[in-house]
Amino acid sequence: MTDAATPLAGWTHTYSGKVRDLYRPEDGADRMLVVASDRVSAFDHVLEPAIPGKGALLTALSLWWFAQLSGADGGRAIPNHLIDGAVPPAEAEGRGMVVQSLDMLPVECVVRGYLTGSGWAEYQQDGTVCGIPLPEGLGNGDRLPEPIFTPAYKAPLGEHDENISFERTVELVGAERAAELRDTSLEIYRRAAAIAEAKGLILADTKFEFGLDADGVLTLADEVLTSDSSRYWDATAWRSGTTPAERMASFDKQIVRDWLAASWDKTGSPPELPSDIVERTAAKYRELLTLLTA
Ligand code: ATP
Ligand code: MG
Repeated sequence: MTDAATPLAGWTHTYSGKVRDLYRPEDGADRMLVVASDRVSAFDHVLEPAIPGKGALLTALSLWWFAQLSGADGGRAIPNHLIDGAVPPAEAEGRGMVVQSLDMLPVECVVRGYLTGSGWAEYQQDGTVCGIPLPEGLGNGDRLPEPIFTPAYKAPLGEHDENISFERTVELVGAERAAELRDTSLEIYRRAAAIAEAKGLILADTKFEFGLDADGVLTLADEVLTSDSSRYWDATAWRSGTTPAERMASFDKQIVRDWLAASWDKTGSPPELPSDIVERTAAKYRELLTLLTA
């Protein structure tokens, strides 16, 4: 893995995902440190080089959204994995979060308010997304009649996540939990989309991960509503644009995905990102944080 996890005094490095490094405390306390690196992944590959400052931006965005969803937006408090008052070590300052170690559910909870990406691909083929039938005649980037829950099976490291039906989600986590995942995900999406809209942004789609705490309470984990896990578009450009590219002027990882899709046939290892793509991505991530939180 590129950009190896930094050794941190008092913490043992236990796992690295594509973007985050996980640590356990050496004193055996029941908690975890999640450190967001500057690594960037697309199509399930970690790319070179890293995006400078990205880990800190993702962490700042997640923390801001966790606070909104804890009731700052006037809604009910959604339980999340942060441990109040627990401070990450200085070397991970700005990139680390001390969290409860949860029993993670193997489902990526995707909500789409707009049609694009793998949803658009499935719709063109079958007229559905994750088995949900949609009206005819929709285009890439169109708004859906209402937000839909389109889960994916969280594949083990190295394998590809796969879109699944709600029935498959029920098989994986049980009927009650599946309904809770769907309802909570749709609630968070609606609340977040309203906040984004007030800042001139469209939250086109997003992905949540949930786990269960020691009491079995459904708890929001991982990162939330970041430019890695979500598609954000400029609302004015979406309304006035005519081509999909104009309508989906994005503040997220789409810049990297689009460049990679055009430059690589998905065989062998992916090419290195050119410096202008790295810089544009970093600039868009910074801009998103400013637009949302200013
Ligand atoms: P990507 O998000 O690009 O698909 P990834 O899923 O391989 O990458 P990362 O996001 O880099 O992994 O690493 C974070 C890992 O930590 C994920 O496997 C996620 O499910 C897990 N995780 C996040 N929060 C918690 C938590 N509170 N308890 C246990 N595991 C968690
Ligand atoms: Mg992840």
